[in-house]
Amino acid sequence: MSRQHDADAPGAGRVALAFGELFGSAPDGVWAAPGRVNLIGEHTDYNEGFVLPFALGHTARVAVALRPDGPPRLRAASLQGADPAGTGQAATAGRIAEAGLGQLEPAAVEPWARYVAGIIWALQQRGHHVPGVDVLLDSDVPSGAGLSSSAAIECAVALALDELLDLRMARQELVLLCQQAENVFVGAPTGILDQSASLLGTAGHALFLDCRSRDARQVPLDLAEHGLAILVIDTRVAHAHESGGYKDLVAACRRGAAALGVPALRDVGTERLAEARRILDADTFRRVRHIVTENQRVLDTVATLDTAGPRAIGPLLDASHASMRDDFGISCDELDAAVEAAQQAGALGARMTGGGFGGSAIAVVPVEDATAVAAAVRHRFAAEGYLAPDLFVVEPGDAARRIDR
Ligand code: ADP
Ligand code: MG
Repeated sequence: MSRQHDADAPGAGRVALAFGELFGSAPDGVWAAPGRVNLIGEHTDYNEGFVLPFALGHTARVAVALRPDGPPRLRAASLQGADPAGTGQAATAGRIAEAGLGQLEPAAVEPWARYVAGIIWALQQRGHHVPGVDVLLDSDVPSGAGLSSSAAIECAVALALDELLDLRMARQELVLLCQQAENVFVGAPTGILDQSASLLGTAGHALFLDCRSRDARQVPLDLAEHGLAILVIDTRVAHAHESGGYKDLVAACRRGAAALGVPALRDVGTERLAEARRILDADTFRRVRHIVTENQRVLDTVATLDTAGPRAIGPLLDASHASMRDDFGISCDELDAAVEAAQQAGALGARMTGGGFGGSAIAVVPVEDATAVAAAVRHRFAAEGYLAPDLFVVEPGDAARRIDR
């Protein structure tokens, strides 16, 4: 059988080799799961609304072996170290984090390894017995950049254990397993967006996801065909989901939904905004208005992609950014500067993407303008005295998969 992705071979070989050096024997297999970019639909997922992410070519790759004979322990290491976005890399790359699987508790596991241990914990919660496991991670999804390096780890590990333990879980179930690991074991109250993109994405398409029904539809997003590129601008301002900001926003959305008498803000259409303004305090109202208008923008983006194509979605991206900046309060100076500089240099549309408080922005640009837009963003960051941003072009890639055969 021919390999599905020839481009996967070097990545599989590298982590398998390093696994052998670290643990003394070959892995049982190597799996890869992509990070994601969310084209539009931010913070709508835990409000049971709509999102439109796509999977990236950037992946987390895990070499995994079961150790059924030894004591049930997890041994996990990362080629990027325990602090992949920080400065401590050299000191921790390849260092093994260990945890007994008898009574897995987050406090007993190193923070980065909780994304691995959380999957084992979630499997145990479902009654599955997990024997000893060795995991080596190698990821080129930038960490803490809003591209979901965390879900990439979870999805790769989940797919690996599903196959090695012969569980045959459906991809939609794996999404929920990974979400549970991140919500409960890691303690980040995220929705199903990241894991769905990583486990269900398809090259050349964005994934239109209804986070209530969990219905998913592939929406054609063939950028090259339309002479377009999507530029990711990683501001290198690290965000932190676990911290207060995200939880406060989740709470504000719940408060708004309760005051409006609905189970989730998904059930509030733009026609109820005038009423919402009357009954909610000003801050809660602005949070609610972002979610309500953002849901509508996702629907409008899907309709636009289906009819007019990707060149026409720019104004929706611009409006989404303004809403996150002004109403939801999750942008920051660097993200605003990235978006503004891109827009001024000829991007058709631009917005911050991911949970906010740092991370990345995206810009839809005509291919011939990509270099000029990137230069304009770099120039603006230098002029403002910000850290130099990381810029790269992405296109919709394939979902999580086994890559060593
Ligand atoms: P995002 O998912 O947007 O990248 P998160 O804060 O959700 O940001 O996840 C980032 C965390 O994931 C890091 O702080 C680290 O704990 C873990 N992580 C990501 N990539 C790696 C890696 N290559 N090696 C070790 N840990 C990683
Ligand atoms: Mg994450």
